[in-house]
Amino acid sequence: MTGPAIERTVSGLRERVRSWRRQGRTVGMVPTMGALHEGHMALVRAAQAECDHVVVSIFVNPAQFGPREDFHAYPRDETRDATVLAAAGSDLLYAPDAAEMYPPGFSTRVHVGDLTEDLCGGSRPNHFDGVATVVTKLLMQCAPDTAIFGEKDYQQLLVIKRFVRDLNIPVEIVGGAIVREADGVALSSRNAYLSASERKIAPQLYEIISQVAVDLAQGRGADDASEAARFKLEAVGFRVDYVAVRDPETLAPLHGPVETARVLAAVHLGKTRLIDNVAVPLNT
Ligand code: AMP
Repeated sequence: MTGPAIERTVSGLRERVRSWRRQGRTVGMVPTMGALHEGHMALVRAAQAECDHVVVSIFVNPAQFGPREDFHAYPRDETRDATVLAAAGSDLLYAPDAAEMYPPGFSTRVHVGDLTEDLCGGSRPNHFDGVATVVTKLLMQCAPDTAIFGEKDYQQLLVIKRFVRDLNIPVEIVGGAIVREADGVALSSRNAYLSASERKIAPQLYEIISQVAVDLAQGRGADDASEAARFKLEAVGFRVDYVAVRDPETLAPLHGPVETARVLAAVHLGKTRLIDNVAVPLNT
């Protein structure tokens, strides 16, 4: 099977996109950090359904990792990723190296206020600046009609929608539903870090936040439901970073009874940090 074409430079990427544009074709983009799984591939299929051509980018972005985080350990396997993309009929893999993305003298940051102040922004300082900067660059480099991001990283999706709006970047941002294992664990490249015994505990994250969504739909107050969830998460062996009930558009904290909301959680299990979220009402 022939793999997808691979471009490693901004100029090569732009050349390809230009030739598609000359033929009147639309372009979709799916930015990733590689170690592709079904969650990524669902986004690729959604992009293929909407656009004539799809660019999948793979770039493990150093700027979004903290100094004590897993940048060096992050799983990388471009050969396998290219095979997976070829099987999905994807036409272009864009895989720049760090020097292409951050040439000497690089000194610009995209900072989104407000939405980034807590949740993952609270526990990962500078993370969202790194994400916003690299995604801005990827969108400017490729200039797609549509770019697709997973709801798995719900706060990230809202941050991206916000700077795209604020900076008038001409692209439609689309969110893709979370893809899960049969036992409820959200697919993540970081699941590979879990030991066998940790993997047995992992499904309870989704179970417990889903129960929060059910309780909220039955009228339980947001503070009360999230406190109960924190207690349960700790009891089964997670170290809780946060579990929160938020407005689904603004991420503003909610306290009493709610009609619509998002339940978001980040936990540590051994050395692995897991995030997940669900809608209230569930499955919306
Ligand atoms: P990553 O490679 O982890 O940076 O993820 C690349 C894109 O895939 C992001 O938009 C993620 O939100 C999305 N993604 C990752 N895991 C999942 C999943 N289980 N379901 C849906 N989207 C996902």
